[in-house]
Amino acid sequence: MSTHILVTNDDGVTAPGLLALAQAMRTLPDVHVSILAPDRNWSGAGHVKTLDRPLRVREVALADNTPAFTSDGAPSDCVALALLGFFDQKIDLVVSGINPMPNLGHDVTYSGTVTAAMEAVIWDTPGIAFSLGSLENHLGQLDYTAAADIARQVVQTVLARHIRPPMLLNVNIPYLPAEQIRGIRITRQGLRVYRDRLDQRTDPRGRPYYWIGGDSPTGTPEEGTDVGALAAGYVSITPLTLDLTMYAAIPTLGDWGWENHRQPAF
Ligand code: MN
Repeated sequence: MSTHILVTNDDGVTAPGLLALAQAMRTLPDVHVSILAPDRNWSGAGHVKTLDRPLRVREVALADNTPAFTSDGAPSDCVALALLGFFDQKIDLVVSGINPMPNLGHDVTYSGTVTAAMEAVIWDTPGIAFSLGSLENHLGQLDYTAAADIARQVVQTVLARHIRPPMLLNVNIPYLPAEQIRGIRITRQGLRVYRDRLDQRTDPRGRPYYWIGGDSPTGTPEEGTDVGALAAGYVSITPLTLDLTMYAAIPTLGDWGWENHRQPAF
């Protein structure tokens, strides 16, 4: 039986990065590719579960006429739809992207691209997020050729080696021509430096409103991290899990005498 790969993203079904990823997956041997992606851009929407309204799915065609499905749900909703039975054939792997901007360090919980892969592991399916390290001020069309090649190579390795939930992979690819990419590094999450600034303005009726603006994040390019690898021209592969427990704090917090501060009941 062939491997059934679901392709999704957070930029919407018309995004060129999704087309590049779907085309790369189709070149793998013995693979069946299905596409279900949001009908609009959900970048930065994080891990979403839509509970208060029904989800609609409709059939569309990508720019190369590949049939695809699109839904009015978030990226994680699309993955849940696919894994809970929208497709007849069981999904073996979820790939998400290719996002135009990198998802590094603390970005992972904001990222629709990465949270789509997180949703996959909730339903016991391997997930991989792919992002390109392009700059926010990039002008014109992005070239996804090198990144799509890397994505194919990564998925080929994963299919041979079988990653298992609860692990998912967060892959960031430098925005460089293929021959300038220096190799692949397995990394940990690095430190993002956010430069958000709150702008308060006044609407025409004199009431305040707010924009969270400021400059795009930078990062500390430390060796061994996703930020460091990308800055040095390497593909960064970070194994992630949804367990956010800070294990090192458990013994200390256990000694804090929580029970001693219990208030007497009225
Ligand atoms: Mn995006």
